[in-house]
Amino acid sequence: MAHSQRDRGSKLHRAPSDEKSAVGSRRGAGITRRRFLYSAAGATAAAGAGVIYALTREQPAARPHYAAIVVGSGYGGGVSALRLGQAGVQTLIVEKGRLWDHPDDDGKRFSKMLPADNRAGWFTTVAPSLIPSFEGISMADIAKSVPSTQPVQAGICERVVYGAHNIFRGVAVGGGSMINAAIAAIPTPGQVRQAFPDIDPSEFLGTYIERAKQTLRINYRDMGWFEQTPWFQYARVGRQYAAAAGYAVDYNGSAYSFDYMKQEEAGQVPRSAFDLEQQYGNNYGRLGSVDQTYIAAALKTGKVSLKSMTEVVDIRREPSVEYVVSTRQIDRFGKEIARGEIGCNQLYLSAGVLGTNRLLLRARDTGALPDLSADIGRGYGNNGDVMVAHTTKHSEPVGTQQSLMGFINLDGRDDPDNPVYASVFSIPLPEETHTLGYYVMVKTGDRADITYDRASDAISINWPQSYTDNLVARAQTVFDRVNKANGAEYRSDIFEGQVFAPNTVHPLGGCERGVATDSFGRVKRYDNLFVNDASLMPGYLGCNPFMSVTALAERNIEGVLAGRR
Ligand SMILES: Cc1cc2nc3c(=O)[nH]c(=O)nc-3n(C[C@H](O)[C@H](O)[C@H](O)COP(=O)(O)OP(=O)(O)OC[C@H]3O[C@@H](n4cnc5c(N)ncnc54)[C@H](O)[C@@H]3O)c2cc1C
Repeated sequence: MAHSQRDRGSKLHRAPSDEKSAVGSRRGAGITRRRFLYSAAGATAAAGAGVIYALTREQPAARPHYAAIVVGSGYGGGVSALRLGQAGVQTLIVEKGRLWDHPDDDGKRFSKMLPADNRAGWFTTVAPSLIPSFEGISMADIAKSVPSTQPVQAGICERVVYGAHNIFRGVAVGGGSMINAAIAAIPTPGQVRQAFPDIDPSEFLGTYIERAKQTLRINYRDMGWFEQTPWFQYARVGRQYAAAAGYAVDYNGSAYSFDYMKQEEAGQVPRSAFDLEQQYGNNYGRLGSVDQTYIAAALKTGKVSLKSMTEVVDIRREPSVEYVVSTRQIDRFGKEIARGEIGCNQLYLSAGVLGTNRLLLRARDTGALPDLSADIGRGYGNNGDVMVAHTTKHSEPVGTQQSLMGFINLDGRDDPDNPVYASVFSIPLPEETHTLGYYVMVKTGDRADITYDRASDAISINWPQSYTDNLVARAQTVFDRVNKANGAEYRSDIFEGQVFAPNTVHPLGGCERGVATDSFGRVKRYDNLFVNDASLMPGYLGCNPFMSVTALAERNIEGVLAGRR
């Protein structure tokens, strides 16, 4: 098959030789290089002295070298790359996952959720589903009875089990933005104050959330349409059930186009959110994913290039203070293509909580960056995530047509004792299910350590059962109330026999800002080493976090480029 060729040959993707020419070859390129460095420094005239120094220092090493490398291309990586490119800084993005820009022989780039094919999961035949079963039938059963015609490959979603909880993440150019539910939740001023006590909420919301909204093409539903379309009947039932229990709802904006949904309903365009696509990508309609917004704009600056299917396996710093990343490139089917080293003056880690923490912990514990603080890996939290489902009355069907996007959220964030935000999710099956499911976020003070194990060269998260039990107890207080008010009952067949599923799609922390880094993500004790992703967040925000991760990343890179402290 030609897939790996497509990945490597795509127009967004530069071959290593192109990347070299983007920065000038290492030897005998002094003039080009100095000219570039001069213009980079000029473009960042507002930058602080440390940044200017880092961008103008010559590097003698015999390997490709960039002014900046960004590891990972999700929200944090996309923001970093775009703003560096706009500041004239020659930047390379290194991303472990695929660039999903070409359809396969079936005309599609992405797998449906049901039945899923092997494009769904990262080197697995069983799609990593948040809803792993229904009435005794599991995703593993479905994978057996409807085997994928696709080979096992670098699929887009990965599930990892750490202690008493499961983490789901996106592995792709665009990171989590490619597979998330596109729920653009806006934190309340109180949530901003609690998560970032040193940031003025009106500045965070008015400047950085607004910037994120604009770039991520966040759009809002037409309420007249929402109130009558069969595709949101389940959401309206969810609203009614929340109201009966005394809860308001929050109508989130979306990175998926509501206009596209209207056209899906009218049969004018191919269906995506209305045809079982979401957790493994959308072939259409998801206009605000990071590959199409931040990354595309970064590449357009002419200063940024992208290397996909390339994992950064470790990082170090040379005595010359050049940072060096060691890379491993594979093809779509897992065959190793190359190993290499790339140098840079500034290193931005945006590999998500699992990726960024692994790189820093490995560097500290193997002695590559020995002065990294003991605070790296501390303060991990799961945003209070837990999932639950309940029945609805016979007289209140949820419908057989359900949009996979544009949820509403039970909103009890103003409850001082047990704040809650719960995104209603759809279960679109051809038969009426009489079921409502929720992605619940309750308040938790529980934090775990992420640690690196040298023998297995892997991280683990010490997440004990008691942490999950605490989340379940809080979520149960809310949903006992919802069930009682509506004559509903819990459903456990959705989650392989459990009523509350310890799934998180919102891992947060490990490199908490103000603790392991300064307020803008500068890693303590290492100049020109930055974290810019969800690892900076405290372990709990209390609503879906991608808007806050993006807004914070915007604030960080603006501050770094301006030399703010
Ligand atoms: C199924 C699902 C549903 C979700 N739904 C929502 C939602 O509706 N609303 C919401 O607000 N949030 C949602 N989220 C969460 C949201 O997507 C994340 O909070 C967000 O993506 C985190 O951004 P980030 O920049 O920290 O990292 P990510 O977006 O995870 O990006 C990190 C990138 O780094 C790459 N990487 C990792 N390690 C390496 C390495 N060593 N070398 C090179 N590259 C590497 C990864 O492949 C990935 O592309 C969801 C997440 C999932 C998985």
